[in-house]
Amino acid sequence: MLTLTSLCAGYGPITALEDVSLTARRGEITAVLGANGAGKTTLLRTVSGLHRARSGAIDFDGTRLETVAAERMPRLGLAHVPEGRGVITELTVEENLRLGGLGRGGRVSSADLSRVNDLFPVLGDRRAALASTLSGGERQMLVIGRALMARPTMLLLDEPSLGLAPRIVAQIFGLVRTLVREDGLSVLLVEQNARSALSVADHGVVLNLGRVVADAPADELAGDDQLRHAYLGF
Ligand code: ATP
Repeated sequence: MLTLTSLCAGYGPITALEDVSLTARRGEITAVLGANGAGKTTLLRTVSGLHRARSGAIDFDGTRLETVAAERMPRLGLAHVPEGRGVITELTVEENLRLGGLGRGGRVSSADLSRVNDLFPVLGDRRAALASTLSGGERQMLVIGRALMARPTMLLLDEPSLGLAPRIVAQIFGLVRTLVREDGLSVLLVEQNARSALSVADHGVVLNLGRVVADAPADELAGDDQLRHAYLGF
């Protein structure tokens, strides 16, 4: 459903992505793995229109995305959850969630709010609390919940595990798995935490210095000792 073909991107003299091709299939979690600076964030930002590719193609369900503006992505069914949990701390949890529905055309249905609160009960319990009072894990749930309010068909998740305790990471990845199973969502998951990502993903793509060095089912990558030691750090 999302296919990148020979994608190149960079910043001035820096090449961040070089001839990257990959497919993220419908109803699956595809993990993009690699060390710091491998090009993972650039890849996600290029797909969601926040950074322009130098060359190559991005096809999402038959629509070419290379020249589509970032603000049109929610209507196409793509939701980007950036690294760093950009919750608006001065707003309440529910106000943050409602903002997520705006990209789709302004209407927020109570059914969408209920679905998010069912998935993340802590957000329902704390709906009137300021987002500034949430823990790191709760903030990560809030930004994922906010993205879901736009009813995407594909979620682009950038390093959701960053700075979280292993127990919280497992909880969040478990919820992402539930979304895939119950709602048929597709997920492109960018992660430095390869061990956790491969435990939840169906498929994995490993980047090194902007190039694809492996592309295989997640269990195959997790079982490849050489690859793990060379590129995945576990
Ligand atoms: P991280 O996990 O640290 O975010 P990453 O795998 O996501 O790493 P990118 O952030 O995509 O990698 O970076 C890929 C390359 O592009 C790196 O060499 C990085 O230094 C460079 N880069 C990223 N953003 C910029 C920028 N705004 N200006 C210049 N160079 C950049």
